[in-house]
Amino acid sequence: MRANCWLGRGEVEVRQVPDPQILNSHDAVIRVSKTAICGTDLHLYDGFVPTMMKGDVLGHEFMGEVVDVGHDVETLRIGDRVVVPFPIACGRCNTCLAGDYSLCENSNPNASLAEKILGHAPGGIFGYSHMLGGFPGGQAEYARVPFADIGPIKIEDDLPDERVLFLSDILPTGYMGAEFCDITPGDVIAVWGAGPVGQFAVASAFLLGAERVIVIDRFPYRLEMARDNSGAEPVNYEESDVREALLELTAGRGPDACIDAVGLEAHHFSHAAHSYDRAKQVTRQESDRPFALREAVRNCRNGGVVSVIGVYGGFVDKFPMGSLMNRGLTLRSGQCHVQRYLRPLLDRIRNGEIDPSFVITHRLGLDDAPHGFTTFRDKEDECMKVVLTP
Ligand code: NAD
Ligand code: ZN
Ligand code: ZN
Repeated sequence: MRANCWLGRGEVEVRQVPDPQILNSHDAVIRVSKTAICGTDLHLYDGFVPTMMKGDVLGHEFMGEVVDVGHDVETLRIGDRVVVPFPIACGRCNTCLAGDYSLCENSNPNASLAEKILGHAPGGIFGYSHMLGGFPGGQAEYARVPFADIGPIKIEDDLPDERVLFLSDILPTGYMGAEFCDITPGDVIAVWGAGPVGQFAVASAFLLGAERVIVIDRFPYRLEMARDNSGAEPVNYEESDVREALLELTAGRGPDACIDAVGLEAHHFSHAAHSYDRAKQVTRQESDRPFALREAVRNCRNGGVVSVIGVYGGFVDKFPMGSLMNRGLTLRSGQCHVQRYLRPLLDRIRNGEIDPSFVITHRLGLDDAPHGFTTFRDKEDECMKVVLTP
């Protein structure tokens, strides 16, 4: 089959690779109908996630048709149309039973490698480095899906792919980021990052009852999408003072909760620094760009919540721990527990409360994945979200 493979920093290639097979009686194989490129893929692309290997198949946002099932799979049949959540989860361990699916204790076959790097091992994720299981991803014609009874959600025929694809990741991720904020009526929420994840964090904050949502980025077209689609109030950090804008909108108190939907500043690196060594230097020197997480902490009102859904790796310097501690802030973060949100968010899509397809700006064939990566990374052609059709 054809699959989009990671070859090294800044290099992906669509190659011929072996077709996936059922390896375990709980597996299914999916023929991918749609798959997307995520901001997280850019972190892999930019070489910020360790334990990637040349030839790894990328992609953790995908959906399609079940074409094979292991003999212990009970809920899926050949021919079912499903969206696959990006975390792989057994559904039976302590963390899965608690609903914390991305921390599954049984889905990461490389747990000891992850422990060395992270302290304890999180669960496995499709197409997302060997420390997170080394599973081939879904930017491919076919994908093997372990624990097929737990993750994939069946989709009725009348809902088109583009309306449901983002259940695999970015819609639940944005929603979880907003849920972390414990929103009560009257709350003002600030979201750093108006990328696809930020768009859904904004929309979800409104769904959960926020009175006002402020969105911060530097790309006017991204800010405009958040304003036009969800009613957010945009602040362009290259044009205005973010702190002043936030204070003015909150009677001097600061937002009730701040969401970091930026994470590792891949863009920053890709614009300012084309090599990994240069990028590391820029991070250390705390370049001229504001660092979203630090801003989110410093601007949050006393006692508020800082919700970190942007992905981080390694060590993050100059984190304002003093501000967090002395002002009683709560920090929440994590890879999204997608399985938890599938049913309720599918219901919200079905009843028209949200149509996630508004973020799609580019529709390409799988073979154009390398072009999709550069377009998305460099914000060419007002790119927001790239969807690939194998
Ligand atoms: P993206 O790269 O398209 O969007 C990031 C946006 O942040 C860009 O528009 C960029 O201009 C903006 N930005 C950069 N620095 C900023 C700053 N200092 N202040 C304000 N905005 C700034 O990516 P995306 O697909 O929207 O993903 C966003 C983040 O969410 C990534 O880190 C990604 O890895 C992460 N993510 C996390 C999960 C999860 O489960 N927690 C799931 C999916 C994605
Ligand atoms: Zn993703
Ligand atoms: Zn589990």
